[in-house]
Amino acid sequence: MANRHDVSSADAMQRLIDGNKRYMEDSLSDPKIKSVQRYEFTEGQSPFAIILNCADSRVVPEMVFDKGIGELFVIRVAGNIANPSSIASIEYAVEHIGCNLIVVLGHEACGAVGAAIASYPDADNGPNLNHLISYITPAVEAKQGAEISEVVKCNAEINGKKLVEDSAIVRKYVESGDLKIVPAYYEFKSGSVDFLQ
Ligand SMILES: [Zn+2]
Repeated sequence: MANRHDVSSADAMQRLIDGNKRYMEDSLSDPKIKSVQRYEFTEGQSPFAIILNCADSRVVPEMVFDKGIGELFVIRVAGNIANPSSIASIEYAVEHIGCNLIVVLGHEACGAVGAAIASYPDADNGPNLNHLISYITPAVEAKQGAEISEVVKCNAEINGKKLVEDSAIVRKYVESGDLKIVPAYYEFKSGSVDFLQ
């Protein structure tokens, strides 16, 4: 087993909760973007959490959790889906960096989830969007007739489970108890992240 990060899943969660509170209260830390901070990261990286995030420009994890360079390992793809590319990126952070927490962060009024709802059951949007939507359709099926917010939450839960199902590396560390996967929901106005587990 590879070495684990010295920040546990519980401690990582607390850091995210505390950072989100500062974000909601308009008390963000100074951004770590000066040259001296950049130099600190030339030797390597050691982010303490992985965020599987939508591409939506309104959901910026480093701001939402009040974090700087090198603190979060962020994968951005519309609909925060667990497909082979996003899973491969996550496997790197789990196996080689030793991250112990993955947050699958859905958000209010997600356009990708809206497209999946509008396309259900069988609209053809071309191969690329069809591929993306195919990862969201299980949530659309499970929550037919529900508000989009419910579909977004279900989609975060389903794609969180998919990380375990489709990745032997993720499964290994979830089963050992080191790695935790938490679906979450981001709301625009309040800026709050509601952790769903
Ligand atoms: Zn979205």
